Amino acid sequence: MEFVRVVVLTPLGPATEPAFDYHLPEYLEGRVEVGSLVQVPFGSRPLYGIVVDRPPAPAVEETRPVTALVDPRPVLLPVQIELARWIARQTLSPLHECLLMMLPPGVVGLTDTRLELAGDLPPDLRLSPLERHLVDLLRRRGPLTGAQIDRAFPRSDWRAAADRLVRRKILVRTPVLAPPRARPLQVTTVRLLPDVPEEDALKGLRAPVYRAVLDFLRAEGGPVDVSWVYAQTGCTRQHLNQLYRRGLVTFDLEERWRDPLEGRVFLPTEPLPLTPDQQAAWDEIRTGSSLCYLLHGVTGSGKTELYLRAVGEVLARGRKAIVLVPEISLTPQTVARFAARFPGRVTVLHSQMREGERYDVWRRARAGLVDVVIGPRSALFVPLDPLGLIIVDEEHDPSYKQASRPAFHAREAALELARRAGATVILGSATPSLESYLRAQRGEFRLLVLGRRILGHHQRISDLQAVYGVPRTRYQPLTDGPSGARYLDLPPVQVVDMRAELRAGNRSIFSRALQRSVDEALARGEQVILFLNRRGTATHVFCRACGYVARCPRCDIPLTFHAGEAVGARHAPSGGGPRPEGLGAAGARHASPLLCHHCGHREPLPERCPRCDSPAIRPFGLGTAGLEEAVRERWPGARVLRWDRDTARTAQAHWNILQVFSDGGADVLVGTQMIAKGLDLPLVTVVGVISADTALNLPDFRAAERTFQLLEQVAGRAGRGLMGGRVILQTYHPDHYAITAVEHHDYLGFVQRELEFRREAGYPPYVRLARLVYRHTDPRRAEVAARDLWDRLRGALRRAGLPPTDLIGPVPCFFARLRGYYRWQILLRHPDPPAFLRTIPIPRGWLVDVDPVDVL
Ligand code: ADP
Ligand code: ZN
Ligand code: ZN
Repeated sequence: MEFVRVVVLTPLGPATEPAFDYHLPEYLEGRVEVGSLVQVPFGSRPLYGIVVDRPPAPAVEETRPVTALVDPRPVLLPVQIELARWIARQTLSPLHECLLMMLPPGVVGLTDTRLELAGDLPPDLRLSPLERHLVDLLRRRGPLTGAQIDRAFPRSDWRAAADRLVRRKILVRTPVLAPPRARPLQVTTVRLLPDVPEEDALKGLRAPVYRAVLDFLRAEGGPVDVSWVYAQTGCTRQHLNQLYRRGLVTFDLEERWRDPLEGRVFLPTEPLPLTPDQQAAWDEIRTGSSLCYLLHGVTGSGKTELYLRAVGEVLARGRKAIVLVPEISLTPQTVARFAARFPGRVTVLHSQMREGERYDVWRRARAGLVDVVIGPRSALFVPLDPLGLIIVDEEHDPSYKQASRPAFHAREAALELARRAGATVILGSATPSLESYLRAQRGEFRLLVLGRRILGHHQRISDLQAVYGVPRTRYQPLTDGPSGARYLDLPPVQVVDMRAELRAGNRSIFSRALQRSVDEALARGEQVILFLNRRGTATHVFCRACGYVARCPRCDIPLTFHAGEAVGARHAPSGGGPRPEGLGAAGARHASPLLCHHCGHREPLPERCPRCDSPAIRPFGLGTAGLEEAVRERWPGARVLRWDRDTARTAQAHWNILQVFSDGGADVLVGTQMIAKGLDLPLVTVVGVISADTALNLPDFRAAERTFQLLEQVAGRAGRGLMGGRVILQTYHPDHYAITAVEHHDYLGFVQRELEFRREAGYPPYVRLARLVYRHTDPRRAEVAARDLWDRLRGALRRAGLPPTDLIGPVPCFFARLRGYYRWQILLRHPDPPAFLRTIPIPRGWLVDVDPVDVL
């Protein structure tokens, strides 16, 4: 007898071991493998499950048989099951959730119930109106599944009524499995049958369209998609059916892959000769002596060209590659570069794809028909075998961390997958995360540097010059190599001290330097980007005279302002920025509206600045809408375009706005962090950062790192164009090391300072954190739950002999109220948070986030 160990894909409660042993019925012997999707009996219910092992003997005495093999081929690779186990351990998530995460939606069907009448009903039955409807429905239509009843009674609470009827033995309920939703797409084709005497067969069919169809099919020579026949000849299905009845044509069903790149034409490109910098890096990567390479190169330094090189090499060796990008930088340009270099071998995955498309990408990959997949986080789970390379572009990007359970980090998962699959990882960034940089310093990753910015091939540059009518450029020819690349220096960054502006009597949100630059650019017909970091506006309290920021005396991170009734109108944030949410009953009416989101310290809003005694101390507050208004007021002649979450909700809307701007349809683009991502805008010469401080003053230990990364990215937007450009950075903290590092494009200087701070303050990458978040619609319940768990954790720490300071909180989250939920958090500092937390029963409702990317 053959046995299989199956993880059922249904939550069974935290205490239950999720894997169970079954035996195979005879007709399935030899057909079930590790990774197969099966149906198994569980108690009285049928469930879907994944075969994770084939033990020689079962762990229990008596086994039940597997009911069915749902998909004839395994749905997961063995290495993916190992990765799922690893993710489950690291993120403290149930294994079945990690397995499910690797499958495209729709592969596994839902569990459902079927309801039917128990028998003939007594005529004098007393039923509520809804119960009566339900009984009538089942009498009319016979047994129905929950999904079918949902469709018949939308928005009603029929389930409660069904419960009562089942208890009264009027209805019988049986658990069933709905079949998987995702199916191959079938298209109908039509073809000409050979050797039919046409004239006879067409007798009586007068319309010329019949002949047109036959001529068309003859010319095409094989089966043709019917919709193509309709389009080309103007016929309808009725016409084709007529021809079918007369034996002239026949229909077939053909399976179609839905291809996200279908219909796009890519001009094939050849690899470029490498620049000396690139060549040096490539010589290292080629040796393959390291599991992981960290490629540090400013925007435009030629990283992507190296990725293409590496992918090419891997493909030549018969292996496959995954290219991870943050969702927002999955631009048509990125895809086009890969698709053009490897025609027909590349596919993409992204969140806006339809279920059927995702299913087909997955199926094509499983069938070995995909060599390169590009996409965000989830592209990591496309089954490519054998895998040779994983590229993680913009490796510092926080979107690589999944916010919900399983809260895994795609960079870490990529490393784990590569280790198990024998593949190589290349992490690339202009501003590598401190985590990765420290690992490179310690020798775990091999560090490669691309120091100079290539702005493209000389041919492309002269083409652009012609298109935009620009006579002179600032590009420097490359003198030390065979390549046709042209270099350009990074754009100059001018830091403007906003305190000095106030002293000089300028109360505008635009410094004099920024006003002058914008005036000049507009006069020359060039474009301007004004950047506002919306996250964190109207939250920190600062003095406009001296730049003082109210900080927690214990944690030294900025205090957060929470507007509430007790706070006078003078302090209400102005402008269109997001208003800080109150803390509800727990905090809104608090007389001390300044809160430390680390330790819970509170204090009142000062009347005057403690440092300089100025009364100009208040919350910072300005949104993109407010900024747009201010721009229109100051530059009434300019055409202004706003780009933020309100004006661009879909990927398409993003592209439309960008298209308008890059086509010269506007002079000034006002936007949020979305602007920062990779994109070529040749006519932009001025990038103004309205306030560099909003990100800096977020109560998060990564605030400086995020600020630096963001501002470097924004700076990368300027001066990519033909005319060069400049960045103007407005700040109240001109001496902060994150700001001066951007001013001098000094990544290494920044990293040194920041690592020092992290080490001294006991933050990652020197320690590991876990963040535990609890949310509830009732603020008091949220607080009570947080205090309970905190007590329990403190007890466990004490028993383990660890200091109580390793527990921070409990405290309301910075985003204390999200989508109607009140959120509380606890931070834990521990050498191995998952190992420690596994020993503690964590009640339902908590999200455990190991190695969080932010603590907001
Ligand atoms: P990054 O990924 O670091 O932003 P890219 O690879 O996109 O850099 O390179 C920036 C520009 O320089 C692109 O237009 C690219 O085509 C061009 N480029 C890169 N490498 C070379 C090379 N060796 N020779 C000529 N042009 C190059
Ligand atoms: Zn002051
Ligand atoms: Zn504090």
